[in-house]
Amino acid sequence: MVALVGLLAVALSRKGLLMETVELTATVVKAAEEDDDKVKEELFDVDLIRKPKSDDSKNLMSKEEAQKLDAAAKASDEFPDFLPMTPMIFPEERNAHDAEIADRLKEVRDRNTTILLPDSTKVPFWQTLQYANRHFEIYISRFVEGGQFDNIPFENRTRAWAMSSLFRKMLCHPGFLAWTKERVFVDRTREGVYKSFEQGREGQFVRRRDIPGAPLAVAHGRGITLDNIMRNLGMKPMLKLVSTYAHEVSHNMGYAHKTQVPYPIGYWAAKPGFDLTDYKVYDLAETPNLEVKSQAIRGPYVSVALFLLAAILSGYVDK
Ligand SMILES: [Zn+2]
Repeated sequence: MVALVGLLAVALSRKGLLMETVELTATVVKAAEEDDDKVKEELFDVDLIRKPKSDDSKNLMSKEEAQKLDAAAKASDEFPDFLPMTPMIFPEERNAHDAEIADRLKEVRDRNTTILLPDSTKVPFWQTLQYANRHFEIYISRFVEGGQFDNIPFENRTRAWAMSSLFRKMLCHPGFLAWTKERVFVDRTREGVYKSFEQGREGQFVRRRDIPGAPLAVAHGRGITLDNIMRNLGMKPMLKLVSTYAHEVSHNMGYAHKTQVPYPIGYWAAKPGFDLTDYKVYDLAETPNLEVKSQAIRGPYVSVALFLLAAILSGYVDK
């Protein structure tokens, strides 16, 4: 249904019709949320655009711990294509990894710049590990345990780790850019919302407990508490975990409900956003003899339009 509405929104580009379609989408979102686990949540209205220094990055887990989590998530059948988090959290790891191609990367102009691999494969820059490691830097800084908060076993930490990674992979995909372009936000521009995620660098702690009143999760500005039943890291499907994580992350980045970012992004993350995570990510460091092209790869619509134009001009299509 939502996919259908999305298609309609693309097809009906006249402004009045588009507005109607957007309103319809919002109604669908609301109905689906009410069905989903009877969402009830503590109010946490963050109206300020947060400054990076107010995140939890000063309390980072060790690099060894992050590497262990990356290795465990990679070895799991559940997340074969996840993005490693260590090189993004620890920039010195990333820079060491990319040392051989550092000069070539300076030629890249934007996320759509075409990279020509030695085997003639053309890859848009957004689909590379090098883009991912430099954008959407939103990560789990540490796991907090003790007192009223549960211990989080390593297997559960691994799922939380994969949750944060798949969320970033989803944001790298052009589907997220398209989502921000078709949404109507309150007191926020579309460009501003996209930019705040793409250029964000946010470390957030994760902890869990039985939250009184059974909300799914609570955002605290520097971190997130997940309910140990409603959003159990060991048992809940990744789709639901990523959706809730997207909602709470957006709070921590300064978006109150009234901005129209948190619920919509959580809903979009569940579907179709999560479905977009199934794409190959190219590590350019593995093919240092690459070439950076100045022109972006043409989108499919442009290619189809050019093909039709050529066909009409050469008489293959009846008028
Ligand atoms: Zn909320």
